[in-house]
Amino acid sequence: MTESYRLPPDQKGLLLFISGPSGVGKSTICRALAAQLPAEFALSATTRMGKPQDQWGKRYLFINTNDFARHIDKGDFLEYAQVFGQWYGTLKAPVIESLNAGKKVLLEIDVQGGQQIKVMFPHAVGILILPPSEESLAQRLTNRGRDDPATITTRLAQAQMEISAARNSGAYSLEVVNQVVETTIERIKEFVQGARPKSG
Ligand code: 5GP
Repeated sequence: MTESYRLPPDQKGLLLFISGPSGVGKSTICRALAAQLPAEFALSATTRMGKPQDQWGKRYLFINTNDFARHIDKGDFLEYAQVFGQWYGTLKAPVIESLNAGKKVLLEIDVQGGQQIKVMFPHAVGILILPPSEESLAQRLTNRGRDDPATITTRLAQAQMEISAARNSGAYSLEVVNQVVETTIERIKEFVQGARPKSG
C-alpha cells in the first residue's frame, strides 16, 4: 500500500473553502483563484432560480426542492445548508475524485457549509473574505443592482452574523479584507502555497 493510497482525500489534494458576506466579491475572487492556482471549482446544487450572471462555468446545478431532498437522502452532498431561504449543497463525487487525483478544489460556500467541511476534512483550508467596511458593502450591494433596499438591509444584518459565526467556528485560517481585489487574490495565493508546499 503506497503512502498516497492511505491518505484521506484532503491530504492528497488541497480542499479550500471560501466564505464571506453577500456582495463582498467572493465570486470574482474564486473565479480568479480557480484559474490562477489552478483549482477545480466545485459544483453546487441549488433550489434558487438561475440568474444571467450564473452563465460563467458550471457553478450551479439548478434543481427543485424534491430533487434536492433526494440528493440528501442518497448522500450525494459533501455539505448542504439553507441560505437566504434557498437550499445549496456541494456535490460530493467530483470533489472527492479531484482531491484523490491530488488537485486543489475550491468551494464557495456559506459559513454553515464551511463548518461542516472543516469537521469532515480537518486539513481543509477555510478563508474568510471581509468587506473594508459596512458602508462599502452597502455600496457594493447597491451598485450590483440585484437587490431592493429592504433586501440590502437584510443582507447587511446577515453579513454581521455571518462574520461572527465564522470567527466563532474556528473553521477559518485566514481572513482577508477585500480592499483591492488583485491584492486579495495575491494574498490568498501566497497563503495557499505556504499552506501546502508539496501539493500540486
Ligand atoms: P448566490 O445565490 O448569491 O450564488 O449564493 C448565496 C450564498 O450561498 C453565498 O454565500 C454562497 O457562498 C452560498 N453557497 C453557494 N453554493 C453553496 C453550497 O454548495 N453550499 C453552501 N453551504 N453554501 C453555498
